[in-house]
Amino acid sequence: MVLDLDETLVHYYEANGEGNYRIRPGCEKFLKEMSELYEVCIFTAAMQDYADWVLNELDKNKYITHRMYRQHASPNGYVFVKDLSRTGRPLARTIIVDNVAENFCLQPDNGIFIKSWFDDMSDTALFELAPLLKCKLRSSLIVCRNRRKEMSRRQRSFTSVPRPDDGTDQKWRLKPKAKSLSNSKRVLRIKFIVTFVCSNFTN
Ligand SMILES: [Mg+2]
Repeated sequence: MVLDLDETLVHYYEANGEGNYRIRPGCEKFLKEMSELYEVCIFTAAMQDYADWVLNELDKNKYITHRMYRQHASPNGYVFVKDLSRTGRPLARTIIVDNVAENFCLQPDNGIFIKSWFDDMSDTALFELAPLLKCKLRSSLIVCRNRRKEMSRRQRSFTSVPRPDDGTDQKWRLKPKAKSLSNSKRVLRIKFIVTFVCSNFTN
């Protein structure tokens, strides 16, 4: 999981000539819960010195395992685009949460937009986001598990025919059709399982 920093988790401000920052409500709990499910990486367009100063204080319990800074982002006009491929992780299993949608324009399907936060201490965005991200992980696992089952079922349904003496190429033969669901029934079943897990979770 890739998380933006400013206006997603904290907001920097200056008062009496000194820099300070506020922490978004639910930040500590959110980081703790996400670190139990995901590898958590901060990817900020801020300068490293500033980001390290905030993160060293914010993340005393070391929920965040990786940090990426402005030098890892790609400037594009007024936006610093965060290319998730630079994390070195499979894109199919990577999510970014950011308050600027343009930041994840290279991989829009991997992005979750969160509204900008400045000082509203009644904000509940992180509290609301956590259950969705937990649910997303569980549904992904179910889909992966079903895909693995399907692949192993397909592999079992094929068998090689011993190479004949006449030297012709090896052939593959489909075994008599095993009991299997049609694609539409399989999709319905996966949808049902995902819905069931989600509804259980939210309840
Ligand atoms: Mg931001």
